[in-house]
Amino acid sequence: MGKHNICVIGSGYVGLVTGACLADCGHHVVCVDSDQAKIAALRAGKLPIYEPGLEPLVTKHRKSGALTFETSIAAGMNRKGRLAEVVFIAVGTPPRPDGSADLSSVEAVAREVAQNLRGYVLIVDKSTVPVETGDWVAKTSARFNRSKASYDVASNPEFLSEGSAVHDFFHPDRIVLGVPSPRAEKLLRSVYAAIEAPVLVTDVKSAELIKHASNSFLATKISFANAISILCEKVGADVTLVTQGMGMDRRIGPHFLRAGIGFGGFCFPKDLEAFRWIAKQKGYDFKLLEAVREINEQQKNWVVQKLEEELWNLRGKRIALLGLSFKPDTDDLRFAPSLEIIAKLQAHGAEVVVYDPIAIPKAKKLLQKAHFAKNPYEAATKADGLALITEWPEFKTLDFARIKKLMRTPLLLDGRNVYDPAKIRALGFTYRGVGRP
Ligand code: NAD
Repeated sequence: MGKHNICVIGSGYVGLVTGACLADCGHHVVCVDSDQAKIAALRAGKLPIYEPGLEPLVTKHRKSGALTFETSIAAGMNRKGRLAEVVFIAVGTPPRPDGSADLSSVEAVAREVAQNLRGYVLIVDKSTVPVETGDWVAKTSARFNRSKASYDVASNPEFLSEGSAVHDFFHPDRIVLGVPSPRAEKLLRSVYAAIEAPVLVTDVKSAELIKHASNSFLATKISFANAISILCEKVGADVTLVTQGMGMDRRIGPHFLRAGIGFGGFCFPKDLEAFRWIAKQKGYDFKLLEAVREINEQQKNWVVQKLEEELWNLRGKRIALLGLSFKPDTDDLRFAPSLEIIAKLQAHGAEVVVYDPIAIPKAKKLLQKAHFAKNPYEAATKADGLALITEWPEFKTLDFARIKKLMRTPLLLDGRNVYDPAKIRALGFTYRGVGRP
């Protein structure tokens, strides 16, 4: 396995994990970010995000010198005379109001990378982008490549999940290499040589489509389970059993079939919209994805609906929420369903108190009117309803006998179907799960 000089541009959830893990694979990595405060923190050994297992890796390779941090692309591509052979683009591709992906950061990076080419460089897009972005990156590179150095533009979509990103990097289900040339393929294979995983080599456009299609399909599975949960509620069946029975069929599989309060996070909602948008641009109206989005939007009303069914008016009622991040083991609040649920509850006049094991510092910047509890028991104190929003492991083992004594009304909304309804009801709670009797 060769050691490569790698520059990763964008040091967020994807870029930082990629950089630290590639350093652990034996490469020299420079992580670049235009956010000066982020780079200053990283240089001082402070991580800007919470991701299990990331801190020890960053610390180890920062100390060994295999992982360094820069604010400029020029310095990242030429660190003390060491020229980058591979440049990963891992900047954000946030949604624009019309649903399309905002690719201005990708373009800005492509331009600057081109201006700093000194010899052959493989430019690899790792950000999630619509099909044909590789063509645009290649055109931009051609326009700004004053040194006339040679380069290739490849696509290497990232499939890691926040909360298990480091593990996912080292144990991916597959590595997709969308490459335009044998040289690019050979180099990328060498970059990932330490990872034991099936490698699928494709053209660039197919690789770009694999990422959007995968995330949209996973979102479709979740919305499908949520639609089944609505039917279950209407007939008194249990969605956890229905989806268990479905998932036992190997053609379907058990993953991403859990009914709940709807999906969120930085990837699924925006990627679904961006995929629909690019399909429409190309002349295909991907109606299935519109239905997936609609079901998800409806599902985010579940908490308010159930509270109204149990408590009548919400004005003046104290509602406690457990969990704010869009999934456990992350502090990421981008497009977290909790934020919408809190806004809806507050619009109904409820007093909202929240607890999350990790995300409270980030939440305090976003939620001015909510109360922040120090633990789940403080959150439940004098509450008229308690709703589980994020299934953090510590919420699975709460002392519900104690919680019942603390609450004004012992009402539990299990937004993730993690509790045993019979056990909770035996303690004197009113229990409502998603799609369960
Ligand atoms: P992020 O916001 O955490 O990180 C992006 C970083 O890029 C930020 O630190 C930002 O300051 C930096 N940046 C923006 N413009 C820059 C520029 N011109 N030069 C240098 N740095 C710049 O985002 P993320 O969650 O890491 O996502 C990055 C991409 O990866 C997105 O396209 C996303 O859809 C995709 N992705 C994300 C995940 C995930 O779970 N977060 C998983 C797979 C793919």
